Amino acid sequence: MKLISANWKMNITPSQTKEYIIKFLPLIEDVKDREILLCVPYTSLCIASEMLKGTNVKLGAQNVYYEQKGAFTGEISVSMLKDLGVSYVIVGHSERRWIFGEDDEAVNKKLVACLDGGLRPILCVGERLDEREAGLTYKVIETQIRIALSSLENYTDMIDIAYEPVWAIGSGNPATPEDAQAVHRFIKNVLEDLNKNYQGMTRVVYGGSVNVHNAGEFMKMPDVDGLLVGGASLDPKTFSQIVKSF
Ligand code: PEP
Repeated sequence: MKLISANWKMNITPSQTKEYIIKFLPLIEDVKDREILLCVPYTSLCIASEMLKGTNVKLGAQNVYYEQKGAFTGEISVSMLKDLGVSYVIVGHSERRWIFGEDDEAVNKKLVACLDGGLRPILCVGERLDEREAGLTYKVIETQIRIALSSLENYTDMIDIAYEPVWAIGSGNPATPEDAQAVHRFIKNVLEDLNKNYQGMTRVVYGGSVNVHNAGEFMKMPDVDGLLVGGASLDPKTFSQIVKSF
């Protein structure tokens, strides 16, 4: 099933979450043929979890720490998220990588922790503008995937991947659907190369300045298996239109 996911980032308080979900659910209640996911801030997980129970909307977190428990002030573990009914977690978002210094090795540890704990990670990969201009897009993405999945080669079916070119995130300047298609195909080739028993269960979703006008165009591409939507997911009506755009 296609995956259409919201990434609220550091927006929307718990009380605003309640208002959002009250408005959002009736707008998408008939949608059964695609997976709808809200990746909300940690502080909204509790209220969202209560409100999404028994609905067609899944709950995701935006980050997780790789240790199981202990003296890691300010961090959140896989089991804490699972206990709240979280099904997905974004791992290695470019804002985590470039603002908070998360490297490919930390991303790998987080993926290991998620798979050990039964949480489905959405691994984010994508090149910066300078890397793209230097013709390094494919090399950067392949390196990110190979390090992130090291020791996890047999588990490639248990994750999803978001291709999010860093220059396209929040910039109003999305990749073209054709460019996204080419990179998505390449990502699937890398997964096939990593795991000879790969069943093709990894969805490769596109993220970066998706809006109501371009969402349907991305979804026409054969290897675009969904969308990860930041800014345009902050309004429930707009996000519902994106969910129903194809
Ligand atoms: C994101 O943060 O994952 C994202 C894709 O943001 P935006 O849609 O705002 O570009």
